[in-house]
Order: sequence, then structure tokens, then C-alpha cells
Amino acid sequence: MLSLLLVKHWNPGNPPLFYFFCMQSRFHAFLTLCAFCLFPATGCASGGRPPPRDPGPHASEPGTPLRTFARSFGFSRMNETERTFEMRGQVFTLRGEKGGRRVWVNDVMIWLNRPVAVRQGHWSFAEVDVEKTLRPILHPTRFLGGAGHQVVVLDPGHGGKDSGAVSAAGLTEKAVCLDISLRVRRHLSAAGYTVYLTRHQDQFLTLDERPRRAGAWNADVFVSIHANSSTNTSASGIETFVLALPGEVSTNHSTQAQPSQLAHPGNAFDEANMALGFALQRSMLAAAGAEDRGVRRARFSVLRDAPAPAALVEVGFLSHPAEAAQLAAAAHRERLAQSIAQGIDLYLREVRRAALHAAEASQR
Ligand SMILES: [Zn+2]
Repeated sequence: MLSLLLVKHWNPGNPPLFYFFCMQSRFHAFLTLCAFCLFPATGCASGGRPPPRDPGPHASEPGTPLRTFARSFGFSRMNETERTFEMRGQVFTLRGEKGGRRVWVNDVMIWLNRPVAVRQGHWSFAEVDVEKTLRPILHPTRFLGGAGHQVVVLDPGHGGKDSGAVSAAGLTEKAVCLDISLRVRRHLSAAGYTVYLTRHQDQFLTLDERPRRAGAWNADVFVSIHANSSTNTSASGIETFVLALPGEVSTNHSTQAQPSQLAHPGNAFDEANMALGFALQRSMLAAAGAEDRGVRRARFSVLRDAPAPAALVEVGFLSHPAEAAQLAAAAHRERLAQSIAQGIDLYLREVRRAALHAAEASQR
């Protein structure tokens, strides 16, 4: 059964808007009606006030100062203004907003767990973001040495009595997801991977059954494919979710919300999840030319219970007239499918590279 979540989404330069989007866990349907800012502790980065100066709410937390981070990750140039920063290296460019939770790595938006804030007197990243968000993106091979790289499980969202989102013209999310998943399978099979789908037809599957099937097939990677919907028909774009970290808030919650302290099975892959999510979002954006809604974190049940590194992609909004029309076109679904396959392949190449490094290191 489709659960709907009413969340407050903050868009830079635009007033806050409320939107619905489909959610994976019937256990996690919340109604978030309070009109607090998503950045209550720090102020919205796009607001009229300058970002906070020391002392701030994060002043006593340990963190890595931006300049220290830039040096240790090989960024040779760093520019700062009162509100923003930008680091440039040979492979990566990293920019972001002081006081905000968003950074852009090679122009792909990533949502941090905690804002860039003044910690112990310096503008800093929280340690959890250095270790669990940024390092897995900038140095993925470091985390992927023991991971498998052959079996891909694709999970077309919804199915059967659960249509998911439906466009004004009657296009169902369950049909879009299945069509794209079948196309992704074709590309990955041609590239030599072993690919399973949690469903091959218009069939209802419980949320528990999806990761369970992936476990039975010994998945090395699990990707759930969905389309978005909103009561605001101007909401558009592509986003990728990975599992929220234990003890940290999910992206769509206020930093003042009480985070779950629980660890889930999917948290065994925190670093790989982020490497996979980044590869998928980067690849889909390049192909679709859509608005970048970022790599986000959530506790959807398919991510919580995933038996392997996992991500959930939202390929566009069925509630947005132009995106719904695009999703109705086979050529667009094929472009998206190619890009999802490419993102998975990019991630699995990193896994193979990591295995090679590990083998070389053991011979030294
Ligand atoms: Zn969905």
C-alpha cells in the first residue's frame, strides 16, 4: 500500500513548499506540518542574514576545518566568501554554503548530515560527514575492497494493487518503474553482469519481500527504482536516496528532530551506499538534464533491510506535466535506463579497482 509523506522541502531562492512524494516504508509515514525552517540551528543559507559566527550551536563539536580538509584531500585551491566556499583539485571540485547542509561535488548536490558550521572556532565539516559522506565519494576504493561486483538486483517500485504515483494522464509509477528496470537489466546483462529483478510483471510485492529476495540471490548491489509525485505540480527533478546513518537525521527532517539511534542491516554498507548513490545521481543528471535534487538520506525499509550496498532512485515527477510527458516517452525512459546502468557499472568498476588495490597491497 502506498504511503504518502507530507514533507516540507526547502528550495534555495523559493519559499518553502509542501509536497507529497511516495515513500517506501509504511512504518515511516509521517505528517510533518510544523512550519520550522529546515535549518533552524543555523538559519537558511539563502536568507537575508549572514551565516552565524562563533559561538554557534555546533561550537563545541569536533569537526574538520575546511582548509584542513582541502589540504588532506588534495584540493590545491580554496576560495572562501562570507557565505560560500569552493575547493578545486585535479579530479574533484567541492563547493558549498556556510551554515547549510548542501555541498556540490563536481556539480552534483549532496546533502550533508550536519551543516557546515563554526566548530571550535573554524568553519568545519562535522566528522560524520568527512568519514561517511565525503570520503566515500572522494576516495571510494578505500571502502570497497571486500565488496562483490557481479550480482545486481533491481527493484521496480510498487506493482499490482499498488500503482504508486499516477500522472494526470493516467501513467502509473509501477509501469514506469518496471519498464525502466527491464531496460536497465538489458544493458547490465549485455555488460556481463548477473541481474535479477524483484518483480518482472505487474505484481504486488510487500516491502519486506524485496530485500529478502535480494538476499536470497546474494546481491552485490541493490537499486530500487521509483518516480516521484507532489501536490505542487512545479516540483521536478531527480534524486537518489541512501540509508540514513545511525543517530543522524534523514535529509527531509529538521536538524532539531530526534534521530533514530538504531542501526539497521543496511548500515553495514554506509560508505559503499554513498559511493553508489553519488555514481547514480551523477550519471542520471548527465543523461536526463533534469533538476538536481541531490543525494539524500532516508530510512526507507528497502534501504534499511538491504543485504548489500543500496540506493533508491527517483527518476522524475509524475505530477510535473513536462516530466510526466517525458516519462511517457520510451526514448526518455531508455536514456534514464542507460544512465542508471552506467551509474551501477561505474560503482562496480570502483569495487573492482578496490579489489585490485587490495590484492597489490597484500603482495607488497
Ligand atoms: Zn514509489
